[in-house]
Amino acid sequence: MGFAPQASIDHAALRHNLQQVRTKAPNSRIWAVIKADAYGHGIKSVAKGLAAADGFAVARVEEALRLRQLGIHKPLLILGGVFSPVDAQAAIHAECQLAVHHPYQVELLQELNVERSVAVWLKVDTGMHRLGVRSKQLNELADRLRHCPSVSEVNLMTHLANADDRSDPTTRRQCERFEQLPLTTFKQLSMANSAGLMAYPSTQRDWVRPGIMLYGVSPFGDSIGEQEGLRPVMTFSARVMAVSACQKGDPVGYGGSYRCPADMPVAVVGVGYGDGYPRHAASGTPVLIRQQRLPLVGRVSMDMLCVDARAVPDLTLGEQVILWGNGLPVEEIARAADTIGYELLCSITGRVEFIDQHVAHANIG
Ligand SMILES: *Cc1c(COP(=O)(O)O)cnc(C)c1O
Repeated sequence: MGFAPQASIDHAALRHNLQQVRTKAPNSRIWAVIKADAYGHGIKSVAKGLAAADGFAVARVEEALRLRQLGIHKPLLILGGVFSPVDAQAAIHAECQLAVHHPYQVELLQELNVERSVAVWLKVDTGMHRLGVRSKQLNELADRLRHCPSVSEVNLMTHLANADDRSDPTTRRQCERFEQLPLTTFKQLSMANSAGLMAYPSTQRDWVRPGIMLYGVSPFGDSIGEQEGLRPVMTFSARVMAVSACQKGDPVGYGGSYRCPADMPVAVVGVGYGDGYPRHAASGTPVLIRQQRLPLVGRVSMDMLCVDARAVPDLTLGEQVILWGNGLPVEEIARAADTIGYELLCSITGRVEFIDQHVAHANIG
């Protein structure tokens, strides 16, 4: 058993979360969003685990081509679209559907000489003001796309900016703007990310595009996945490397920002920001040892962090420490590090060992 930190990927949880999407959006098809290496979980493993999805959505052409190389034959959607004739050709050759969010991408498709055609998703800006064409341009661009030999069907999508806040009026406004578009001239429609499909059922449409909820994490700022019926997929863990008997007043770690309030055991855990644990996690951020929450003390360093081990005085070397996942929601760690679960999941680095877990979650302590 290695001492390196591990990310255990729970395939039963992944399937459960996908089923939750089906239950919440029973009339929609599902683009399972697996961009950014499946939110840091490993795209190969997750694509296998989500075989029951209707298709996979990724951000970039390279991610889509990787999935084809892995032998995935499902519908694929490239959410960022393509930016060069070479990429467009590769994507279409690999039968990837394309988001088209800029007139430049329409031109690119018009000038393309290819033997295949794919469905495209014209992306309209309904209020996020990031990607998307103006509603005024919509009809003209859609018409041009319909006449492209490389385009087999023209669909319409938009993206929600504030659906993660259930009390924010932006989503209603985005829905109203969407409704005013010539929706019936498009083959299929898509609006909802995880927060949209959960909090605003009217955004579900033909296809939903859940990402974060598939990984068991709440898309909302005020809840955790479990409260939304989801189960965490990644459990990030490491091992106790040393236990030192510190004296009252001893500073712990770089800068000595924490001083021991009493004589106490301090456990050194073999994980740090070089593995993707957030350096900004403050003293007091919990870790889980033997199902108990123990507080982090002092600064997180590259390969290690320290924990107040008074609650487990008989702690031994090699014991497992859960940083987040089963029993300790990543949402809670994210709040302690002033970020969101998405970022923590995506931050796990290459030296962490990934393990596919196919049986029910046993006590892995
Ligand atoms: C990332 C992304 C999603 C998924 O968002 P979640 O909040 O993770 O559900 C959906 N649609 C688009 C266009 C995206 O970029």
